[in-house]
Amino acid sequence: MTTPATLFIDGAWVPASDGGTREIRNPADGELVAVVSEATAQDTGKAIAAARSAFDRGEWAAVPAPERGDFLLRVAAELKARKADFAHAETLDTGKRLVESEIDMDDIAACFTYFGKIAGQNAGRIVDAGNPEVVSRIEYEPVGVCGLIAPWNYPLLQAAWKIAPALAAGCTFVLKPSELTPSTSILMMKVLEDLGLPRGTANLVLGAGAVAGAPLAESPDVDLVSFTGGVATGKTIAAAAAGTVKKVALELGGKNPNVVFADADFDAALDNALNAAFVHSGQVCSAGARLIVEEPIAERFTAELVSRAEQIRMGGPFDETAETGPLISEAHRDKVTAYVKKAQEEGARLRCGGTWGTGELEKGYYYAPTVLDNVKRGSSALLDEAFGPVVTVETFNGEDEAVALANDTSYGLAGAVWSSDAGKTQRVARRLRHGTIWINDFHPYLPQAEWGGFGISGVGRELGPTGLGEYQEAKHIYQNI
Ligand code: NAD
Repeated sequence: MTTPATLFIDGAWVPASDGGTREIRNPADGELVAVVSEATAQDTGKAIAAARSAFDRGEWAAVPAPERGDFLLRVAAELKARKADFAHAETLDTGKRLVESEIDMDDIAACFTYFGKIAGQNAGRIVDAGNPEVVSRIEYEPVGVCGLIAPWNYPLLQAAWKIAPALAAGCTFVLKPSELTPSTSILMMKVLEDLGLPRGTANLVLGAGAVAGAPLAESPDVDLVSFTGGVATGKTIAAAAAGTVKKVALELGGKNPNVVFADADFDAALDNALNAAFVHSGQVCSAGARLIVEEPIAERFTAELVSRAEQIRMGGPFDETAETGPLISEAHRDKVTAYVKKAQEEGARLRCGGTWGTGELEKGYYYAPTVLDNVKRGSSALLDEAFGPVVTVETFNGEDEAVALANDTSYGLAGAVWSSDAGKTQRVARRLRHGTIWINDFHPYLPQAEWGGFGISGVGRELGPTGLGEYQEAKHIYQNI
């Protein structure tokens, strides 16, 4: 077999310098999907050098911002045209249902479209210096070379939230997707190459985080590292980045409360609670993993949740009757299994789930939708992210207790409030310490609205105007005329 050349460095597709490779396998059935290059730290160093040199040559930053925006719109069009290939590749790597990958691809095109449209709008501003002899203005410049590190749950979507604003701002970058899910990043680089992005502007390295990713945080030639992933990795990256005082953007995990008041639309809240907890097998940073239900309806709500969760059909990603798919890996399923076991040891009651897929599904890493109740405050099931199809149920009475429970976490990514009382939902929403609050809904997000976390859920924001601002430096030019 020939050595794959799937690293994209300085405008060329190259193999790892030591010939290293990695097999990518479909978590739904263990089938081989691809063999890709496994970058060494030196390969990442070469990619950083290419991005540095491209930034210093200044070709991309010199393209007028509205034209950079037009380029992003062409990327969006290309993604729409190649949607089927991208969605198929994403599904093979992640095991997520094809229909979910298709939605991801639409969202990715929408992200490029949004940043394409706003790229030319941030032309700077005149500042009133209070003195007619002074002309003072702010210019927004690209931050420079960006290290972009993405996770496996929404591989290309999370990368797109970084690539699109980085290019809109005029930056160059090195992307390192999760070692488990590289395929759509490879396709993405091909799109950027086909559309004629200047050499070295976009670079791709693949491989293990501690080897291929670490230099992006450590190198003095990287000006900003933008990371999406787990809290522990985020801390490592922030600490490494501190060595060169580079800018850091972190999108970390969540332990997201879903608060249902007794006066909520019961059926809508129930449908959404199931989706919030179990879509993509709960491997979603904003999963509604903590259901907090008001006492008068708690028993009925939980009983119906359990009954509906038991009926969710697990199956392969191309099985159109399946409602949920596998976890990403054996190691991750072991982690979720241990999490549920520990919850039970700490006194939680397993209402349903807690089992692996059987029969045909034994080839993959399936874990049944799981509901836990009787969960003690302060126990690990309420504090730690499972990142799997596991939801805990807590109960409360009244707004104050709802807010106290919902905020009783060091995370702060997202949360939801369900009630037919508009005043109550607004009051509670304002008191919740989370980056996104949904009222009578769960999960929608908009590319034009900032996304990010309070507390240990992260630093900085993606999407929206702030998401572009992360990739810009504000420069004050003061002229004494
Ligand atoms: P992870 O932290 O294990 O890995 C994320 C990425 O970091 C991967 O590309 C990995 O290779 C890389 N990495 C690992 N160690 C590194 C190091 N020392 N230096 C540089 N890079 C390194 O996370 P994961 O398991 O891929 O993703 C799951 C986590 O991501 C969950 O905690 C989830 O909540 C979080 N997440 C957050 C958001 C958000 O928007 N806040 C979105 C998606 C996922």
